[in-house]
Amino acid sequence: MTDIVKEPAASEKVNLLDFDHAGLTAWCAQIGEKPFRATQLSRWLHRHVEGDFDRMTNLAKAFRAKLKDLAEVRPPVPITEKKSADGTRKWLFDVGNGNAVESVFIPEDDRGTLCISSQAGCAMGCLFCSTGKQGFNRNLTTAEIVGQLWWAERELRRDQGVTDPNDRIISNVVLMGMGEPLQNLDNVVRAINLFLDDNGYGLSRRRVTVSTSGLVRQMDKLGELAPVALAVSLHAANDELRDKLMPVNRKHPLADLMAACRRYLKVAPRDFITFEYVMLGGINDSLAQADELIRLVRREEVPCKFNLIPFNPFTQSDLRKPDREQVLAFCRRLNEAGIVTTVRKTRGDDIDAACGQLAGEVRDRTRRAERLALQKAEAAELLGRTTN
Ligand code: SF4
Repeated sequence: MTDIVKEPAASEKVNLLDFDHAGLTAWCAQIGEKPFRATQLSRWLHRHVEGDFDRMTNLAKAFRAKLKDLAEVRPPVPITEKKSADGTRKWLFDVGNGNAVESVFIPEDDRGTLCISSQAGCAMGCLFCSTGKQGFNRNLTTAEIVGQLWWAERELRRDQGVTDPNDRIISNVVLMGMGEPLQNLDNVVRAINLFLDDNGYGLSRRRVTVSTSGLVRQMDKLGELAPVALAVSLHAANDELRDKLMPVNRKHPLADLMAACRRYLKVAPRDFITFEYVMLGGINDSLAQADELIRLVRREEVPCKFNLIPFNPFTQSDLRKPDREQVLAFCRRLNEAGIVTTVRKTRGDDIDAACGQLAGEVRDRTRRAERLALQKAEAAELLGRTTN
């Protein structure tokens, strides 16, 4: 583990990582520069992953001087970086005022995936989630969202000696870290614009995934503004259980969520929704519940795949890890019904980068202890009821 400990300086200068291409073009116009300058600059910032204006050699000297005067490239700065034996990397980024967010890079044979955060903390309060237990602190800015990718790509390139701007190490981005991305829609959409832009990160829509707990109206909005791949946290096959696991369900019950999924599929880059399903021992992992899930997605006519995530216990939770055999049987049941289902591989175990272990040290300002006690009582009650 490397300790980097570096305080970001407060600055009056414009942070160029806050702009998507339209924003950068407008800003360049404000300082008297033509649109092609914005394109050149964007390529330096996001394709070369360069933050030093002096190294942007094809920019006119006068333009570089203006940039030095007025702007800077200010990604969030990591407090720590950890490297796992399996190649997984994790950065804990300082986002000021005692808040920190995490990003995790997962290398695989055919892709490199970066999981990034969209908020410091989260207001959704899902019962099984360690981030939810921390409460909500604030939305990340576009620069803080994009900056996670900028920093990770730059570090990975340096380590691997990659200099060609067309050789990207991170091929996929998933917004599945801390926070509910659709509660920070404007900044997330601006960041996605940059991920997709040919003069930005040049990723295809299929390689950018937004994960939501099921904010129905914002799902429609995302479909209008930036239709990328969608993952929906389902975790239960009926409203009674989902109400308890995910407070969002009380506002947007399953029928509404499924209707929103069908609408999203009309504009999505993939012809299925990925349903995330955290498997909680003794709560939602029975074969009867697998059958109920099959009935749900057939009845609602939502083409889908399932990703089963065995729960990873954390200290503030009384919920249980499911039995391995039970997870495999559940997975088999869905696959036999013709629904492609996988079990998420555990990666980065030695650096606490596995799912549900994202971000520890975030200061909470939201009566955390009080809410925690309440949630613990709810979990205990739920566990008692479903195992009796
Ligand atoms: S699971 Fe996602 S939406 Fe729910 S509390 Fe955790 S971070 Fe928020």
